[in-house]
Amino acid sequence: MTASLDDLPLRDDLRGLTPYGAPQAPLPVALNVNENTHPVPDAVASEILDDIAVALRDVNRYPDREFTALREAFAGYLGHGLDAAQIWAGNGSNEVLQHIMQAFGGPGRTVFGFGPTYSMYPLLAQGTGARWVAGERRDDYTITPEEAAAQVELHDPDIVLLCRPNNPTGTPLGLDVVEAVYAASRGVVVVDEAYWEFAPRDAVSALSLLEGRPRLAISRTMSKAFAFAGARVGYLAADPAFIDALRLVRLPYHLSALTQAAAVAALRNADTMLGMVDEIVQQRDRITATLEALGYRPRESWSNFVLFGGVEHPRATFQALYDRGVLVRDVGIPNHLRVTAGTEAETTAFLDALASVESAS
Ligand SMILES: *Cc1c(COP(=O)(O)O)cnc(C)c1O
Repeated sequence: MTASLDDLPLRDDLRGLTPYGAPQAPLPVALNVNENTHPVPDAVASEILDDIAVALRDVNRYPDREFTALREAFAGYLGHGLDAAQIWAGNGSNEVLQHIMQAFGGPGRTVFGFGPTYSMYPLLAQGTGARWVAGERRDDYTITPEEAAAQVELHDPDIVLLCRPNNPTGTPLGLDVVEAVYAASRGVVVVDEAYWEFAPRDAVSALSLLEGRPRLAISRTMSKAFAFAGARVGYLAADPAFIDALRLVRLPYHLSALTQAAAVAALRNADTMLGMVDEIVQQRDRITATLEALGYRPRESWSNFVLFGGVEHPRATFQALYDRGVLVRDVGIPNHLRVTAGTEAETTAFLDALASVESAS
């Protein structure tokens, strides 16, 4: 006999919610959750293993609660004159975002972002009892500084989440929008640069805006460009006081000694770990060009995925691709599907499968 949620004394504000649910299906070509589909290079993998082996000898002890070596490594990787006091990390940037919600959100507070955006934002907000409010974008998913500032002033949120580039649309976001939103808000402003390494080389990170903006935080992850999704490592940069706020809510020793060792070793080899980024960007651009030739409407992307419109029946196309061994994502935007840029072979498999399915509407 099993009970249902209704039988349990669940928090009222969680009733009726559904958990994050990207399907995990064992298909040969999985291009649905924006992972880096290239494995960690062998040479780096064995160095990471060596360092994990060393850490394992001390695993009877709690790890460095302040993960100092890792924070120093992230500061070095990010540059912009940052030091370890301005860095935070967690088990995936989802946990880092959760720390922000716990410290600055909570019951009676408002979390705001421009929809459609990352599907975890509402869940993370609601998980702390905060209210999620979705603002609006233009039809091409862009936002102007003026419109962004006006919406933020109207809703007066405690936390603003700016996904840059945006998931699931891939849309870039100007630094002028970040500046305008910061100036228009009294709450904290988080710029989620999870896909930053896939942006054009000459694009400027929001890290350049940190100086003099103590309510601003830039979050990043090792899950995408670093091919480290399974290790669960995300991080952010902000004013040291902002980092102190996150210390109030984290669980003690939240980053395991094994995670810290693995991430430090990976960062020591950042150039090799990021070696596939250019190749992935090439495949992304190939997807865009081929989708256009097939009559679909791919959206501009600064990330490792492409959202494309002109899909007459997304459910049916999703299923037809699935039946051909290719997993993509139906993100719930009418007449659109999202696909991650994979290896050249995976990308070819996707494009061939799509070409054989149906023509675009
Ligand atoms: C994938 C993704 C993350 C990263 O999640 P992790 O918990 O670090 O794996 C964060 N933000 C966005 C928008 C993402 O798409």
